[in-house]
Amino acid sequence: MITPILPTYARAPVGFTKGEGPWLTAEDGSRYLDMGAGIAVNALGHANPALVAALTEQAGKLWHVSNLYQIPEQQQLAEALVDNTFADTVFFTNSGTEACELAVKMARKYWYDKGQPERVKIITFSGAFHGRSSAGIAAAGSEKMTKGFGPLLPGFVHLEFGDHGALAEAMKDPAVAAVLIEPIQGEGGIRVVPDQCLKGLRDACDETGALLILDEVQCGMGRTGKLFAHEWAGITPDIMMVAKGIGGGFPLGAVLATEDAASGMVAGTHGSTYGGNPLACAVGLAVTRIVADPAFLDAVNRKAGQLRQSLEGLVAAHPDVFESVRGTGLMLGVKCVLPNTDVVKAGYAQHILTVPAADNVIRILPPLNIDEADIAEAVARLDRAAQALAPTTN
Ligand code: PLP
Repeated sequence: MITPILPTYARAPVGFTKGEGPWLTAEDGSRYLDMGAGIAVNALGHANPALVAALTEQAGKLWHVSNLYQIPEQQQLAEALVDNTFADTVFFTNSGTEACELAVKMARKYWYDKGQPERVKIITFSGAFHGRSSAGIAAAGSEKMTKGFGPLLPGFVHLEFGDHGALAEAMKDPAVAAVLIEPIQGEGGIRVVPDQCLKGLRDACDETGALLILDEVQCGMGRTGKLFAHEWAGITPDIMMVAKGIGGGFPLGAVLATEDAASGMVAGTHGSTYGGNPLACAVGLAVTRIVADPAFLDAVNRKAGQLRQSLEGLVAAHPDVFESVRGTGLMLGVKCVLPNTDVVKAGYAQHILTVPAADNVIRILPPLNIDEADIAEAVARLDRAAQALAPTTN
């Protein structure tokens, strides 16, 4: 059947007209508790007053001028990100996929300019998701994402997630330019790379000079209780992809890099008409100032503790529906026994939104400023959803 919207998404039969904090109002006027936050995007909830103010104030002043000119809001946001991270420099995009494109170009140009143009290979891992562009799907490498879209961008080396032996072997190849990894796989099913593995990866990169590219599109911007997830491991990347939460719902992404890693990206090597526009950067600056505040991150960690404990209880109470809880901070996944899509649907019936992921997981990604009462309400609704799927006696 032909539809006015290309049918690439299997959408739920519900639409929303309004949001406030973690709550959404549907077309029929009923309310849903949003524990997906637009797939880890609405970091500060819906219609956050500080973000609405930042956007409307900027909307009344200036929307777009292009990167042919200085953009003060972009400069301020870049400074805020550099001040709070490992990075020396930032390029703004409109999405995570575009951040992936630049990260790949940056790594290859780095080696080209260092006089080693043969260093083009980028190591990636099974279950990864880096976007749906030609580079993004080639990086992920799965049949699900690449089938029918060849010829694929060459140069990606796909390793099994967690296979240390294969990694050690692959790193011996002198053509390796970089390793690209999500500290926590989101679409892959909330699979956490343990801190010691991230440390090992950093060491392995240091030994050969390969650049470490972290994709923090989903796990970054306070989601794990640190501003960026890699901080838990006490390491820093050379290049980092950011998007989703940084715009709080306004399209915005970024690539952060050290001066050395970014050294090949001189004038004329990359660009974006919209990337870093005044509207997006005004909102991004408001988000960053709030989320980077240590008191805000402390609160994320407290709430994460409450949510995790409650979810562990939920899993224990419904062993026929749920298997285990995984994740860090407010980036949590519940592995299901029943098909995860059935669990998500049962959630819709209880007016709670969760997001399915690979490995039969449902993702729980609430706004980072959700309060304790709404966390309790979310778990109560999931409990009712599980009860409807597989009634228990207690
Ligand atoms: N990288 C990761 C880890 C993601 O989770 C996503 C989106 O889900 C992307 C990249 C692509 O980002 P976008 O959809 O903004 O292009």
